Amino acid sequence: MLELAHAAWPDVAAHLRERPGVAILPFGALEQHGPHLPLSTDTLQADAVARRLAERLDAVLLPAVAFGNTWSNEALPGTVSLGADTVAAVCGDLAASLERGGFAALVVVNGDFGNRLPLQTAAEASAVRGGIPVLVLDYPGLTEIGDRVKETPWAAPGLCHADEIETSMVLAIAPALVHRDRMVADYPELPADFGLRQMALAPLSATGVFGDPRPATPEKGERIIAHVVDESERIVRRVLSALGLS
Ligand SMILES: [Zn+2]
Repeated sequence: MLELAHAAWPDVAAHLRERPGVAILPFGALEQHGPHLPLSTDTLQADAVARRLAERLDAVLLPAVAFGNTWSNEALPGTVSLGADTVAAVCGDLAASLERGGFAALVVVNGDFGNRLPLQTAAEASAVRGGIPVLVLDYPGLTEIGDRVKETPWAAPGLCHADEIETSMVLAIAPALVHRDRMVADYPELPADFGLRQMALAPLSATGVFGDPRPATPEKGERIIAHVVDESERIVRRVLSALGLS
């Protein structure tokens, strides 16, 4: 694995001579995650998954993008958002630059729900113009492992925000950043059309929590991360092999 931010250009040149040139980009956010988790939660998680994936694949790890499309949580302070078009443009510009630099593929490890559509827009744009393949991973296997590991119910199907899952992951990655004494459960009443249209999230929960973080443990976090990395590796290897890049 080559960590791009710490490498010098001859190291990159050597890597690209000997390997297929796969870049891995963690795409995070700066977003409220309840009273107990840091604003960088999504970035920390995406970086942890991307780092392990880069090690497994002996690929190039890019520095994480620390902002995402998080307008829906702006009601609570500290959330600083990019627009969806900007997220798509950042991803598209990075893919085009990597391509000019001799890379063959970009794998994006997305850590934030609001980035999903814009990142797919960038992946599609790269495909339309015949650019390098851009593969966006939204934590494959997360719901499955969540169902196995969680002791508390989901606030809504697939909704995972400052809950037992995210808190466990941060406890595994950066325990010093978790305020255990501030953990509270919050199961907000969700409108009947929740998930069917765009809506702001934070005003629905006064604490910013959707679920119950209290039973979170670092061991659960490690199991969740390990499963997501396994699933991500399986998908990326399948795509790279189909592209003749493995
Ligand atoms: Zn999150």
